[in-house]
Amino acid sequence: MKYKWDTIGHQKQLVQLEKEIQDKNIVHAYLFSGPKDVGKFRIARMFANILQCPNDFCHNCDDCKLIQSGAHPDTIVMADKGETIKIDQVRELIHKTNLTSQGKRRIILIENIERMPIEAQNSFLKILEEPPGDTVFILTSTQVNQVLPTTKSRTRRYFFHNIEDSVIKQYLEEKYGSNSDIEEIIQIAQGRPGFAINLMNKPVLLTEQRNVYNQIDFFLKKNDIARKFMLVDELDKDSKQMEVFFDAFSRYLRKQLYVYLSEKDNSLKSRYSLKEIVELFESLEKTRYLIDRNTNKKLALENFFLQTEK
Ligand SMILES: [Zn+2]
Repeated sequence: MKYKWDTIGHQKQLVQLEKEIQDKNIVHAYLFSGPKDVGKFRIARMFANILQCPNDFCHNCDDCKLIQSGAHPDTIVMADKGETIKIDQVRELIHKTNLTSQGKRRIILIENIERMPIEAQNSFLKILEEPPGDTVFILTSTQVNQVLPTTKSRTRRYFFHNIEDSVIKQYLEEKYGSNSDIEEIIQIAQGRPGFAINLMNKPVLLTEQRNVYNQIDFFLKKNDIARKFMLVDELDKDSKQMEVFFDAFSRYLRKQLYVYLSEKDNSLKSRYSLKEIVELFESLEKTRYLIDRNTNKKLALENFFLQTEK
């Protein structure tokens, strides 16, 4: 690898990107898609930096420093802080992009382009079709099914995937030394290095994961639909919490499937057959799929919890 990308995994994609840089085969729009927290936006930022640095990504020049601090005059960065991108912001972005950049390359970096509602995406499409001068859009997406096909077709696409546990483990051990939480964190992170690093750095996040996991264990071992529906109400109001819930539940059932046959005293065994656990797992995935597609969250979750009652 020629450049120091400072990221975990994705060797194949990085080699390809480096080849494009080498061959000066840069197109005006890229779309990096893949699961959350696998490093797409980090790579997008590095890519922008390589393209903006006049000294071959030296890490030291003013351009490099300005990009890393988010203050580069010809690089617009719209990081995802959980907000949608309104049509007015797209109009402002189009206006800024059209301003002269004194012969320099302008780079627009947008994290999770699906944050633009359809109306805003349609407006954005105009500038994507005819970008002024030397403009490069680097877009990322976690839910690429919510990106307009017309947007996708105007970009060069890169697909990112979950990273193998062993690769993340090696990185964590090198960075943090041996730590008794690493095994558990890798299980929780499920191939997302950004998430694993977050869990290492913020113990409160790890505690939260453990609490939800224990709650799920408690819920599966008894009938208590009233309390389960109370949780549904909480999750319905908090999409971050909803994500933690789905991650933990999926991890829980996955583990149960593996230990079901081997452990003699498995308290779930007396309650569910192996087939029923498989069905719960499938139902959980389906519920998540429906919620991602903006179905009535509360109803979908209530239906799911009804299946945990006996
Ligand atoms: Zn530089």
